[in-house]
Amino acid sequence: MSETSADCIFCTIVAGEIPADVLASNEHAISFKDLNPQAPFHALVVPVDHHENAAASAAADPAIIGHLVSLADEVAKASGNEEYRLIANTGVGAGQSVFHTHFHVLGSTPAMTESL
Ligand code: IMP
Repeated sequence: MSETSADCIFCTIVAGEIPADVLASNEHAISFKDLNPQAPFHALVVPVDHHENAAASAAADPAIIGHLVSLADEVAKASGNEEYRLIANTGVGAGQSVFHTHFHVLGSTPAMTESL
């Protein structure tokens, strides 16, 4: 059973309760476009299980970080970005605003199709 937090926006996206521009998903994680893109390609990769940051997810399930990195690589390359940045802000002072683990995937090539 997945761990969720009732007032977490990313948990509601994982549950399909609010819309998101989903690029890819699997049993471990989901990737969707960032609502406020900071690069021509800007996606997020988010684990199904709720933890407040990447370190907390790693402590609970070390393998989850590998799943997130693999999904990030998949959506970046599928969008035409062989090279990209992967960022996890941790803490308010570092710019974290959503307290459900996520990596930003930032690439210089816009997605080539509407869905990716
Ligand atoms: P953080 O500031 O590193 O925590 O990143 C949170 C990101 O989530 C920001 O870039 C927001 O634009 C993005 N975001 C917040 N709500 C949504 C949403 O409902 N859909 C897609 N992206 C979102």
